[in-house]
Amino acid sequence: MGTSNRKKVTTVAEVSIELGDRHVHYTLRRSPRRRAIALLIDERGLRVAAPFAAPQQKIDDLLREHAAWVLRKVGDWQQKQQPPRQWIAGESIMHVGKALTLVVESGIETPQIAEDRLLVGPPSLTPKAFEARVRSWLRRQALALYTRRCAAFSAQLGLAAPVVRLSNARTRWGSCHASGRISMNWRLIQAPLTWIDYVAAHEVAHLRQMNHSRAFWLTVGALVPDYAERRAALRRDTQRYLLL
Ligand SMILES: [Zn+2]
Repeated sequence: MGTSNRKKVTTVAEVSIELGDRHVHYTLRRSPRRRAIALLIDERGLRVAAPFAAPQQKIDDLLREHAAWVLRKVGDWQQKQQPPRQWIAGESIMHVGKALTLVVESGIETPQIAEDRLLVGPPSLTPKAFEARVRSWLRRQALALYTRRCAAFSAQLGLAAPVVRLSNARTRWGSCHASGRISMNWRLIQAPLTWIDYVAAHEVAHLRQMNHSRAFWLTVGALVPDYAERRAALRRDTQRYLLL
């Protein structure tokens, strides 16, 4: 037998982990000289430096232990990566999975969809007022659509339509209050309807089951049979739609 004399060199890998309901990517650098595991967030994002032989489990445990810190830092970092959004004519916004180009139009008081454009007016609006008008339009669209979808899913379960509110969270899509009130993130109005429906069905299912038990997921599955795929897609692309 030859001697096992493989030289230990530094390795770098792209890894991801589920923290809470978030999917977090990081760069894992293993080096023979390191003694302890270190977490670091710099301009390249989340990075983990680990001893060559550190078990992945140990790294995962450390990330989970510091999940709140990691999520906060990664959130800050992602926000810095995003160029500031311009709410001006010619830019586009997403509305139920479809891009709409912002167009200034005279004679328009309430924004209006015209094929793949969103007409906003009047032309005398200051940039700030223009942005406010587009934002409040998106919020109204969100509330109307979520209310409709939640009512439809509730009816399927034989329940009364819940009160739906908009939330402004940066880290979650929806929640269901013990009183039966549902909150859904207004930013989700940018996402495709299948995702909006997944979140609506998830929260409506909580009206039956205030937990994530097997019975809960069976209820979600009764409303949205392919919920697992939708959930995975939503988790994967969360950042695209949460930042606005
Ligand atoms: Zn839930």
